[in-house]
Amino acid sequence: LILLGLESSCDDTAAAVVRRLDGRSEVLSSVVIGQSGLHDAFGGVVPEIAARAHAEKLDVAVRQALAEAGLSLSDMDGVAVTAGPGLIGGVLSGVMCAKGICAATGLPLIGVNHLAGHALTPRLTDGIAYSYLMLLVSGGHCQFLIVRGPEDFSRLGGTIDDAPGEAFDKVARLLGLAQPGGPGIEAEAHGGDAKRFSLPRPLIDRDDCNLSFSGLKTAVLRTRDTLVQEFGGLTRADRADLCAGFQQAVCDVLADRMRRALRLYLGENPAQPCVAVAGGVAANMQIRARLEQVAGEAGARFVAPPLKLCTDNAAMIAHAGAELFETGLRHDMTLSARPRWPLDTTQAALVGGGR
Ligand code: ATP
Ligand code: FE
Repeated sequence: LILLGLESSCDDTAAAVVRRLDGRSEVLSSVVIGQSGLHDAFGGVVPEIAARAHAEKLDVAVRQALAEAGLSLSDMDGVAVTAGPGLIGGVLSGVMCAKGICAATGLPLIGVNHLAGHALTPRLTDGIAYSYLMLLVSGGHCQFLIVRGPEDFSRLGGTIDDAPGEAFDKVARLLGLAQPGGPGIEAEAHGGDAKRFSLPRPLIDRDDCNLSFSGLKTAVLRTRDTLVQEFGGLTRADRADLCAGFQQAVCDVLADRMRRALRLYLGENPAQPCVAVAGGVAANMQIRARLEQVAGEAGARFVAPPLKLCTDNAAMIAHAGAELFETGLRHDMTLSARPRWPLDTTQAALVGGGR
């Protein structure tokens, strides 16, 4: 089974070819065309600009993905495309492109939930078995999921305000560091004193799996303002200490909530207990190490996919599409693009043929 995957839900235009054989998937090619530069002047992704760029670049990405795989459309068994959630203009561009290819070639069409793509990535990279506990931590999302199958997710909890990546980006902006903020904060935090400033650990010890990061961000803002008022600005050491303190607080919150989620997951007696992470924030080495430790203490395996498959890409969409294809799922030309699409509603909730 060889699928072409398309992804265009945010600010990356991506296409990939994935082969699935005997229950394992293999990435034959994965092309990601970013939109860096296009949105810089606006301080965030502009949906209209993103949609236009996707429409221009999708066929470039598809051609390149096929060329790198050394295959042509006639070698494909289907086309998997992100049908939501995301910026609707971008999702529509991808869905229209996929429909165009399917109409021209007669290939089957499979609409994929972008979050399912992230959540199934450890099956692509490490071939782990169902069920597993997934922490999805990115610029736009933060949630704990029990993943039991390609259409079977239970959401245990998630952020009630900002996603951690968003918090890293906002804190970086407050401290005059480059965007996206995660890598810069991680670098600054090296050698910083995480204990110097006292920062909050929101929602810790609460009896659910929800998280909150906006209070932490505000505390960093206040600390910065106090330093500016008292001393006229921040020294390098101040910045390093603040970054270290912030990163430590994020680690503590994620670890505490992960322990709680693990108790619920292990309560189901999974055959081979496994914790997996995905999303750009999972690139952070301190966060990774801490979550690995928490998983280890509970006797669970820990899996973190390589970074290029943790952030937005089309290989994860092709892989998720392949798993769905194997369950018999197909969509038709009425497949719709959805700006919102929670994971724990089933695929059937998506208009456009279904099974
Ligand atoms: P989504 O996929 O949820 O729509 P997104 O595309 O913005 O959102 P990703 O591409 O998965 O998210 O991840 C980007 C985020 O990851 C950014 O917010 C960035 O700051 C964060 N990030 C990247 N590297 C690190 C790091 N080393 N430490 C912490 N955060 C990081
Ligand atoms: Fe994403």
